[in-house]
Amino acid sequence: MHRLCAVTAAVSALVALAMAHAALAQSSLPHASAADQAEAIAIFKQLIEINTTDTPQGSVTAGTEAMQKRFLDAGFPPEDVRLLGPDPRKQNLVVRYRAEGTPNEKPVLFLCHMDVVQALRSDWTTDPFQFVEKDGYYYGRGTQDMKDSDAALVATFLRLHREGYKPKRDLILALTADEEGGKFNGAKWLVEQHRDLVDAAYVINPDSGGVELDHGRALVADVEATEKVYSDFQVTATNRGGHSSLPRPDNAIYELMAALDKLAAYKFPFELNEVTRTYFRNLAARESGQRAADMLAILATPPDMAAAARLSEEPSFNSNLRTTCVATRLNAGHANNALPQTAQAIVNCRIFPGHSPEEIRQQLVALFADPKLAVQYVSNEGEVMNTAPDRKAISPPPPLPEVFGPLTRITDAIWPGVPVTPIMENGASDSVYFAQAGIPSYGYSAIALELDDDRAHGKDERLPMDSFTKSLDFFYSFAKELGEK
Ligand SMILES: [Zn+2]
Repeated sequence: MHRLCAVTAAVSALVALAMAHAALAQSSLPHASAADQAEAIAIFKQLIEINTTDTPQGSVTAGTEAMQKRFLDAGFPPEDVRLLGPDPRKQNLVVRYRAEGTPNEKPVLFLCHMDVVQALRSDWTTDPFQFVEKDGYYYGRGTQDMKDSDAALVATFLRLHREGYKPKRDLILALTADEEGGKFNGAKWLVEQHRDLVDAAYVINPDSGGVELDHGRALVADVEATEKVYSDFQVTATNRGGHSSLPRPDNAIYELMAALDKLAAYKFPFELNEVTRTYFRNLAARESGQRAADMLAILATPPDMAAAARLSEEPSFNSNLRTTCVATRLNAGHANNALPQTAQAIVNCRIFPGHSPEEIRQQLVALFADPKLAVQYVSNEGEVMNTAPDRKAISPPPPLPEVFGPLTRITDAIWPGVPVTPIMENGASDSVYFAQAGIPSYGYSAIALELDDDRAHGKDERLPMDSFTKSLDFFYSFAKELGEK
């Protein structure tokens, strides 16, 4: 998925706040040596040049097998380097870095998808499946999403192992298939079929979050601490039809339109959770005037609903305050001179954590209040079902201090003064499968990108070379600190 989040407009003023902070100076962070860096770059290059798209040319297994070989060559025990999956071309790799002795805490799982979105040579300036170093950037499909982080985590595990580091709890790295598309989502499959292999106290998923740069200046470090759940619903009106010269009041198009009019006018109830509370509290400290006052007013008990309504006029805030559902596609009729027999719309919902897709489907049925309409769920695989899943993503716990403490300290050592902000992501990543299994997941890439240089899924995807080096420093210190508990 796409890494940076559109909270920047709201936090543009924060750079002006030079907050005094007792930071660990950047120089005190252990840096990757030249040899460590060379190894990480070699892994990055190898991964970019293995096509892991969900196409006949692509194979996730080619990528995970190459990484499996590196771990085995480094001396990881074969039983801790597991290649497994439901399809020969979509094998996931799960590496367990064992604690010394009996751990007191459950493992930490680093979750990284290995697949990339298709890229065509004809669209790109360079070959998307060649790792090209040019003008201070690495170019290639996956340099932002997310083979940079795959490489950084593989390199981190190998380096810690080489240095003889002994964590107090197990650290797990899962390299998985089909996050971007395809039928064999590895994160979902692992959590459902092999929970023991990936069970963890929490997940770190570098597929989202990161540092937003404005002309080289770090504005904010977003950490995805929860995400909304994506669901599509198909609304269908059917009618016996007939000749259009003999219209009747009953009409599939009108009936569907009446339902969509109700949807357009409807707002799901205002809600907050521990993550969005922290988000608005942080933001209020950097905003001013009515907006800052409104952010504090919605946090009061009871919340000020007029303030919530004012904030909801801004789409990015609105999406943080409620479930949203919106009509995105329409298909109706079969001839210009016939009464429509079918009218159909897709309604796309982004569900606030704590509610299930089935709960939202039933709310739509109640809202439309027309028994002639069918409201069905459309799965990610395109299957249309009369009921939706009733599993809900957990309402997130307050951001865990044992994660945010080290994350904030190490981020500050690399980008001094940058505020670390937990956010609720409106998109969807593999974190959702862990959230549905009751395991909190935090999205943070430690990748710094300019606001206008987000090229994930796009052409000429690229990563600043020094951003990669910094992410290596970040994950080395971060994995080590998380392993200490
Ligand atoms: Zn991604």
